[in-house]
Amino acid sequence: MPSKERNAMSETRHISVTGLTKIFSVAKASIPAFENLSFNISAGEFFCVVGPSGCGKSTLLRTLAGLEKPSNGSIRFTDQCGDIVTPLIGMVFQEHGLFPWMTLQKNIEFLVKSNPRLSAESAAISQQYLQKIGLSAFATCYPHQVSGGMRQRVSVARSFAYDPDILLMDEPFVFLDSQARWQLQQMLLQIWQETGKTVIFVTHDIDEAVCLADRIMVLTAHPGKLKAITSVNFPRPRDVITLKRDHRYGELVSDLVTTLKEESFLQSV
Ligand code: ADP
Ligand code: MG
Repeated sequence: MPSKERNAMSETRHISVTGLTKIFSVAKASIPAFENLSFNISAGEFFCVVGPSGCGKSTLLRTLAGLEKPSNGSIRFTDQCGDIVTPLIGMVFQEHGLFPWMTLQKNIEFLVKSNPRLSAESAAISQQYLQKIGLSAFATCYPHQVSGGMRQRVSVARSFAYDPDILLMDEPFVFLDSQARWQLQQMLLQIWQETGKTVIFVTHDIDEAVCLADRIMVLTAHPGKLKAITSVNFPRPRDVITLKRDHRYGELVSDLVTTLKEESFLQSV
């Protein structure tokens, strides 16, 4: 769990969400996305959100990022002293989002430069992250010249290289095959441990959530309400393959699947 280094590096101590509700107005109809969500996240925590399709997971991330205005409730970010702060927030999406006309190295550099604190060192940081993710030899390749897994590796790495206080990740591995997915999960865990970022990670994959999370928030079917928050107490650092052999892993996955099954439109099957 969080090392001294991780706590020292993360400026945003807490995220406090209280009674958060988002209702879209479409024509004359009101479409609720999620309702009355309250939870806290600690600095440096790896917090996963799971729930059925359409329960408002993506909208929740967008609301936390300030891209959607809450219909009700509040989000408060505080630093280690308890003072209200406006954190630097990074996002990673299902699609890699790399610019096709830039090399992998330039893609990382471009995002790093957008953090004014880092712009002078952007080339060095970019090289350092390419090395970290084993892609130095591909630095001058364009996104179409590498595999989907490699593109997503760059996408995840550059979001950390940008050095945000909080990283919001919306099902970033959903389009990868299972082998690429566990490699990316392992890489993500390593970079997260090194950097101490607060990560909020949305997935519909319970296995993935159990491998990665400190805690998992389960939402009900649409409109998403808080169903449960479960702690995942496996020690860190974690090896995502070894973890799957632990009988407690299987039990936790099975418990969460049962919880989510109650939310399925097929629950009577
Ligand atoms: P999830 O990511 O869990 O699959 P979303 O957050 O994408 O769910 O969507 C939650 C609900 O909000 C859905 O009913 C969806 O139709 C609705 N919704 C999402 N975005 C918009 C929008 N821009 N306008 C209207 N309704 C939206
Ligand atoms: Mg979504």
